[in-house]
Amino acid sequence: MIIRDDIGSWEDGRAKTVTFIVTKDCQLACKYCYLVGKNSRERMSFEVARQAIDYILDNPALFPEKSVVFEFIGGEPFIEIDLIDRICDYLKEQMFVKNHPWFNSYRFSLSTNGINYHEPKVQRYIEKNKSHLSVGITIDGTRAKHDMNRVYKSSGRGSYDDVVRNIPLWLSQFPGGGTKVTVSSPDLPYIKESVLHLFSLGIREVSINCVFEDVWQEGDDRILEEQLIALADAMISDRLYEDHNCSFFSDYIGKPLDPEKDNRNWCGAGKMLSIDAAGNFYPCTRFAGYSLRSKQPIIIGNIHDGIDTDRLRPFLTLDRTTQSPQKCIDCEVASGCAWCQGENYDAADTPTIFQRSTAICKMHKARVRANNYYWSRLARIAEKEGAQCNI
Ligand code: SF4
Ligand code: SF4
Repeated sequence: MIIRDDIGSWEDGRAKTVTFIVTKDCQLACKYCYLVGKNSRERMSFEVARQAIDYILDNPALFPEKSVVFEFIGGEPFIEIDLIDRICDYLKEQMFVKNHPWFNSYRFSLSTNGINYHEPKVQRYIEKNKSHLSVGITIDGTRAKHDMNRVYKSSGRGSYDDVVRNIPLWLSQFPGGGTKVTVSSPDLPYIKESVLHLFSLGIREVSINCVFEDVWQEGDDRILEEQLIALADAMISDRLYEDHNCSFFSDYIGKPLDPEKDNRNWCGAGKMLSIDAAGNFYPCTRFAGYSLRSKQPIIIGNIHDGIDTDRLRPFLTLDRTTQSPQKCIDCEVASGCAWCQGENYDAADTPTIFQRSTAICKMHKARVRANNYYWSRLARIAEKEGAQCNI
């Protein structure tokens, strides 16, 4: 589960995202980690980052977005805090020197396991960049739940205590901080207690999704529905809905979609740019070798030759109808049913990005049922209280 602030909604999601994969190493060996190729060898050098930045800033026509999010990911990015600090300094200096429009509209974004969050070097970096910074911390709910999976690589010990001690500091620096939670099959029985635990830590915004991989077992949809109904009951009986939010309950999901009116691709793969330690460019980090189980990486250029538009072009033609099976086009509950472009590619029968994986189908339908329950209960309460339901 990943805690982060509101960077996702910054500029309505229309900013360019440029991602530096600064390291493929991490202190932890989480049992569910999707990064199949983690290692301590592939660390980005400043020289590679500098060349990528020069290319991007010197070619504004290729990057016409008015705003930009520079994202740093790993492995664990704060392992490379010196490098990140240097890259950010260089970015600010170069955007100013080149009079680049992004100088007035940029953000830095990091997602961390939280272990090093309190360290002086990290804190100095946060202090220096705080007006342009978004930081997410990863925590999996209760201690028992977190320590089941998020263990140290060296000792096998759980990391909950080392992370949770940094949550108050993080929330004091990012008071609007929210959570992003990803659940897989073994997590399902813990959803209710995990979300309530995150609320109890002071986090008011919990955003959740089920993993896109084909991991779902017989009966998982029933467990998800039961958990969400129990969570809905707890949120309603304790009136948590008044100042807390869990994205599993959203008034947007569970409606049919008219392709004439809404044919957008779900995510920004292809409109983003990711760079690895070798200086290669990807449409998203999910297309880099370390996050693919069964397919070759899709490289769309590099720091020496720039972006290869022929390789990028297929990504720019992606929309809902170019990749969805007929059952999804006709689906009565299609809205909010997400996909990951990288997982679509990884799971496809052939090396194509135009085959939507629907492994999540029954989980989305279960979510829609629980969502309907939540909103009908709230509507009944509002009716009873004679109040306007403006939540
Ligand atoms: S995956 Fe299933 S729930 Fe989602 S849009 Fe397709 S048919 Fe509907
Ligand atoms: S490809 Fe997957 S990981 Fe990349 S932006 Fe899309 S949803 Fe996110």
